[in-house]
Amino acid sequence: NDTPLYAVFGNPVAHSKSPQIHAGFAEQLRDPVRYDARLVPVDDFHGHWRAFLNEGGRGANVTVPFKQQAATLADQLSERARQAGAVNTLVVTENGEVIGDNTDGAGLLLDLKRLEAPLTGARILVLGAGGAVRGVLEPLLETGPSEIVVANRTVEKATALAALFDAQGRLRGCSLDAIKGTFDLVINATSASLAGALPPLPEMLFNEGALAYDMMYGAVPTVFLQWAQRHDVRCVDGLGMLVGQAAESWYQWRGTRPETTPILEALRADLC
Ligand code: NDP
Repeated sequence: NDTPLYAVFGNPVAHSKSPQIHAGFAEQLRDPVRYDARLVPVDDFHGHWRAFLNEGGRGANVTVPFKQQAATLADQLSERARQAGAVNTLVVTENGEVIGDNTDGAGLLLDLKRLEAPLTGARILVLGAGGAVRGVLEPLLETGPSEIVVANRTVEKATALAALFDAQGRLRGCSLDAIKGTFDLVINATSASLAGALPPLPEMLFNEGALAYDMMYGAVPTVFLQWAQRHDVRCVDGLGMLVGQAAESWYQWRGTRPETTPILEALRADLC
């Protein structure tokens, strides 16, 4: 079978929307690929990756809990994967070299631009300081915001993260209860939504015309988005980021850029 082979590796992986997204890209661009979901035992990521290479695998997406392990098996890391400290995309080059990349930040930016979110000159609040945030700060800084505040339950993680970037004073870390002022864009990148919890937030958080964005997505709005809706701001979940990171992975593998909106609309229709 000459059709190029790709996959998503995870545990669990059955819920992954990546096979559907990449099948959509392949159809749209008339560029057939095979793309499977592979459930990998937590202690044998390397073994499964080697088996996949033997089958002729050309690249993969990597999801929970293998994003750090994937960084250790790559021959080379892209600058953005190094910065994120995690790999969500593996690319096998023509000469068999394995490049570890991270497309989460590019995926978020693609989605924020599609939404015409406030970015240049904007005051941005990022809630959370975990793996996802590490990968999105540099692309957010590149859009030229006036300031980015990273607020986290464990304050040390927020301040340590802020110190990693040469942001010329435009990036600051603080605790959730030290958030001051109002913002044009608020991104929830905590996993609190997973547990149906809302980080403690000040009532006056949004500027006029602000956008509230939750990296998590689902059939019903997250607790954070429900809270933001009560403050009368535009609310968007992370489904577009998911499609955006997939589109950037596809570009790394195939060199073409799929149009994300029709795929996002189809996924949204399936969720509801
Ligand atoms: P991590 O586990 O690395 O980080 C979790 C973060 O959430 C930490 O900052 C943690 O704070 C904070 N947190 C957890 N529970 C609470 C709570 N009850 N109250 C306040 N803060 C809390 O997760 P990731 O960074 O990998 O992922 C974060 C979110 O982004 C997840 O919901 C994930 O699903 C989503 N995501 C979506 C993507 C997409 O494509 N749409 C891509 C990647 C991630 P502390 O440091 O104090 O523990």
